[in-house]
Amino acid sequence: MSLGSSLLSLPPEWSDQAVCATTDLDYMFRDNGGYAPQRRLCLSCPVIDQCYEYGLDEKHGMWGGSTPGERWAAGRGRGRRGIDFDIQEEI
Ligand code: SF4
Repeated sequence: MSLGSSLLSLPPEWSDQAVCATTDLDYMFRDNGGYAPQRRLCLSCPVIDQCYEYGLDEKHGMWGGSTPGERWAAGRGRGRRGIDFDIQEEI
């Protein structure tokens, strides 16, 4: 599944505010040794919290400032504190 197809299914009430919607959407799925550039984009996004919750089960790409490995480690239903800490450490 590409990010483009994923974003098309995002809830319309926040997807129109997505910063990445104005970019090449597949860019958010390119892991070139890390997702640091994509994460910087997410940190400026007004819907980062909604995107993170929405993308918790996504196995690929950057969602709400989190990598696939971070989402796996956080597990569904956990709070965001651990993820926020990881974001600040990696940038
Ligand atoms: S948080 Fe990141 S992946 Fe999610 S909508 Fe915003 S820019 Fe796109």
